[in-house]
Amino acid sequence: MTLCRIVEESTRLIHDEGDCASLQRTPGPPIQRGSTILLSTCAQVYDSSLVTYGRVGMATQRTLRDALMTLEHADEAFLYPSGLSAITGTLLALLSAGDEVLACDSVYNPTRRFLAGTLARFGVTARYFEPAATAETIGKMITPATRVIFLESPGSLTFEMQDIPAIARLARERGVLTVIDNTWSAGVLFKPLDHGVDVSIQSLTKYVCGHSDVFMGMAAAKGEAVGRLATSSHETGWAVSPDDAYMALRGLRTLHTRLAQHGAAGLRVAQWLSQQPEVQSVLCPALADDPGHAIWKRDFTGNCGLIGAVLKPVSDQDVARMVESLSLFGLGYSWGGFESLILPCDPQLSARTCSGAFPGPLLRLHIGLESVDDLIADLRHGLDQLPDATRAASRCRAIA
Ligand SMILES: *Cc1c(COP(=O)(O)O)cnc(C)c1O
Repeated sequence: MTLCRIVEESTRLIHDEGDCASLQRTPGPPIQRGSTILLSTCAQVYDSSLVTYGRVGMATQRTLRDALMTLEHADEAFLYPSGLSAITGTLLALLSAGDEVLACDSVYNPTRRFLAGTLARFGVTARYFEPAATAETIGKMITPATRVIFLESPGSLTFEMQDIPAIARLARERGVLTVIDNTWSAGVLFKPLDHGVDVSIQSLTKYVCGHSDVFMGMAAAKGEAVGRLATSSHETGWAVSPDDAYMALRGLRTLHTRLAQHGAAGLRVAQWLSQQPEVQSVLCPALADDPGHAIWKRDFTGNCGLIGAVLKPVSDQDVARMVESLSLFGLGYSWGGFESLILPCDPQLSARTCSGAFPGPLLRLHIGLESVDDLIADLRHGLDQLPDATRAASRCRAIA
């Protein structure tokens, strides 16, 4: 930029732009920082077809949104600073006072907390259906106030499968919108919008970012829901930084490759766990004897690394000893990174209204990208810390 006359150093520091036109080409997009967008003419200032404010997103965020539209087969995708804010932002966009939400009982716990807290305060009610309820059962629960059916398949922690195409079809017939938390599939293994769902939400924090170091969420939509999400995003002001958008884009480059490894390793560990005497059952729809297997096989193209394991009855102290003895499995919540994790889950199940209890403690495992043989050896070492399986089984009978 040519300045009109020689000016003070302080002014130059503000106005020298450098030569952006000669930026070298790189495989990734530039990280374009900016709150102010400089416009060329006064007519552009109020041109609603232009992006005129940085909060809406610069080139980096737009590149990510376009990539997510490709991933989710969507007409538009919206970014949020976390997976949870994508859920709360979507619900705020679609619901009004007096409306009702029907949600699966296996929904991510903070989703339930938002329904019971903020949305209840705003006059929205929520009712829950059995995680594996049929479309017919859900249909019977619909009232004139029902506006949204909130789905999550496989369910958080307990991995029940829902017949999404049937539920979406029924909801459409009854004028109800469907929203799904699609985080488990990473948008790769399942395409909800192709099956008639209105909004597909992901915590990009998990597999898309994939390295346990970024928070981000998205809502991808088709049809009527797009306009409502656009208006609400505009009104509420959710925004993500270009640096984080760059990290999510970088994760997308390797998403399919990582997920293939997570899925194969997850299935191998699931099969191995189901043969261990200390394990009562394994929750993983990719296993042939899982109650959700037929639906998973019909609608999903693969498995990921997140599975559940129900132990035979042992005490909380036994579980703690087992979990804390592991050296490769970290103890932590936010899964989807390159590393393996384990989490005792029972306290999280107490909020549920319909689900029956398991006979023993529930563990959630995320199978990372380590060698599967090493992970299995670590788990065997952990299970060895439990009281022996025969004693565990006879204690179970004594309790019953
Ligand atoms: C982690 C998670 C979320 C929330 O994502 P954040 O990015 O941590 O806010 C939502 N849904 C599911 C199923 C999750 O596992």
